[in-house]
Amino acid sequence: MSLVSITEMLIKAREGKYAVGAFNILDYNSMRVVVETARELQAPVIVQTSEKTVLFWGFKPIVSWIKELAEDANVPVAIHLDHCKDLSIIKNCIDAGWSSVMIDASSRPLEENIALSQQVVKMAKFHGISVEAELGEIGGIEEDISINEENAHLAGVEQSKIFLEKVKVDCFAPAIGTAHGLYKGEPKIAFDRLKEISLLSDTPLALHGGTGLSEDVFKKCIALGCSKINISTQLKYAFIDGFLNYYKSKPTEYNPLTILKAQYNALKQAVAENIMLFGSNQKV
Ligand SMILES: [Zn+2]
Repeated sequence: MSLVSITEMLIKAREGKYAVGAFNILDYNSMRVVVETARELQAPVIVQTSEKTVLFWGFKPIVSWIKELAEDANVPVAIHLDHCKDLSIIKNCIDAGWSSVMIDASSRPLEENIALSQQVVKMAKFHGISVEAELGEIGGIEEDISINEENAHLAGVEQSKIFLEKVKVDCFAPAIGTAHGLYKGEPKIAFDRLKEISLLSDTPLALHGGTGLSEDVFKKCIALGCSKINISTQLKYAFIDGFLNYYKSKPTEYNPLTILKAQYNALKQAVAENIMLFGSNQKV
């Protein structure tokens, strides 16, 4: 199957009351895990790249890996650019072959956020590419973006209404109290706010900061319209721990391929666990 945008898979997910996992990859091995696990579980899937990962590898290699993997997958696979403030990087991703992008102008005043997001929608729609945008500010640390608790704020209902009327996004990420990175203590999710926002439109919602949320929280958020759930931090841990744990158990072996295999297996467990929690298995 060739690459798809996130539009159709998320509409189906919102209607079917499950969520598609959006997994941040780091290299070819982790990308392969995400696509192969989705194939085994017959789940639609979103392979997500941070701006940093894109700049580390370059645009062309990432697209060539994902195209080859998606072709053999027989499940819908999207390649999505995660939080990006830089329109030139977004444009380069669109030109290189990404099937979906996120514009994150959430730190700007509402009118500017709307104008920038509209600009990206215009740019992407011309190529049949889907767009996610954010409102409010999601706390925590993601790559180089750090939002402390005082600056993190929930998306307003009235502001969300205005935003959704003016910007025709395929996926809307309202800040509802989740955070990037690891939670210190119990996360405080504003379910009431999420409910009010979900009633505004049928637009699928994205839940950021999925690592560390409980099954109960996922279920509630999915029931309230979250159709895309981002998992990044958990995969960073699996990536490094999978590698280190194997090395620690066999420090004298020095066989890189067996270490990569151990890393693959640790990542696979994390990806499979989340797909099952989100209920997207057997949904193709
Ligand atoms: Zn995020």
